[in-house]
This record gives sequence, structure tokens and C-alpha cells, in this order.
Amino acid sequence: MGGVGKNHYFCGMNTSFKEILHERIMRDGRCLPGGVLKVDSFVNHQMDPDLMFQVGREFVARFAGHDINKVITIEASGIAPAIMVGFLLNVPVVFVKKKVPVTIENLYVSRVHSFTKKKDYEVCVSTEFLGPEDRVLFIDDFLAHGNAAMGILDLCRQAGATVEGMGFIIEKAFQKGAKLIEEQGVRYESLAVVESLEECRIELCR
Ligand code: 5GP
Repeated sequence: MGGVGKNHYFCGMNTSFKEILHERIMRDGRCLPGGVLKVDSFVNHQMDPDLMFQVGREFVARFAGHDINKVITIEASGIAPAIMVGFLLNVPVVFVKKKVPVTIENLYVSRVHSFTKKKDYEVCVSTEFLGPEDRVLFIDDFLAHGNAAMGILDLCRQAGATVEGMGFIIEKAFQKGAKLIEEQGVRYESLAVVESLEECRIELCR
């Protein structure tokens, strides 16, 4: 893990970030049965803050032309990249909750299917933190079948918020998420695209 002692603010735009991310996925990623890519050592369990910072910088560059006033994500694995983007854009970050809390009175709620956990669950966000004045960028770790993304679109529709775009660290191109997002006319960006995990071999789109 790099990053110790470096001052990120004065680093230039990292044009080879895609290569860095590709190398990391090939080195530390593991295939699980059913088309799941395990990246627990740098995204989903242990996290690499330096890599996450670069992820944030890359998303900021890609959505540079958009007038974003809020970053939105879903707990838990989206929070790390989202906070980096929010920090760089100097805008608040809202994480959508996966359990409806008793402490919040007014909520927007949507039902989402979890690809990895193979079950439905409700996601929610307080009406206090999402509204018609918001132009949001959704950030998440993975794009698989697009269920989380559709849940976010639904919550934003309920709130009257505008979705400026969606950014994913890793997209699995062999699943249907990208198509669903395109059909909704939403701009999305993926920093690494996995073409196939067949026979437990990671194939990245170069
Ligand atoms: P989707 O809603 O697009 O079907 O799936 C997105 C969510 O499922 C992500 O937020 C991520 O947490 C999880 N997910 C989907 N596919 C994978 C995968 O291959 N590996 C990991 N670690 N998480 C995944």
C-alpha cells in the first residue's frame, strides 16, 4: 500500500490510473463462483486509502463538466470512494441506508435485490438529505446487474433530485447493469471493466 508521506494535493493528474487499478485487480483480485470478483484486500474489507484517493480524483476528472452539489452512495463499500469524491468536490456525501432506521421519521424507501447476498432489501434516505435542489453523483464500488443503481434512481425520482451521473470502481460487463443505466439515459463511468470471470480467470477490458 503506497501513500505514506505523500502530499496528494500537489500530485498531477494521474493519466495511468487505469493501469494501476488493472494491476491491482489482477494481483489481488480473486474469482468466486457465480461471477463474483473478490477485492477484499483493497476495497471491500481492508481498504487502500491511497488507491481510493486516486479513484476519487479520477471520478472528479471524468465528471468535470457536471454541476454536482451532492455525492450519494450506498453503505457500506461505496462510502470510501464516495467520501473521497465529496472531499475533492467540497460537497456533502449522503449514504443510503440498507436498514430502515426507527430514528428517522420521513424517508424515501426503495426495494433492491442484492446480487452478492441473493436477497431483497429496502434502502432508504431521509427526506432531510435529498431533495429537488440536489444534483447528485452516485458512486459505488461495483456495477453488476444495476439493482443498486436502479434503487438510487428511484430514491432520487421520489425526492425530485437530478442524477448527474454514476461512477463505479469496477464494472462487470457480462452482467446487465450498464445496459439498464444506459436505458435510463444516465451518464456513467467505470474505472475498470471486467469482461469475463469465466473459469475463474479475470479478463479486463483494456
Ligand atoms: P448490482 O446492484 O449492480 O447488481 O450490484 C452492485 C452491488 O453488489 C455493489 O454495491 C457491490 O457491493 C455488490 N457486488 C456486485 N458484484 C460484486 C462482485 O463481483 N464483487 C463484490 N465484491 N461485490 C459485488
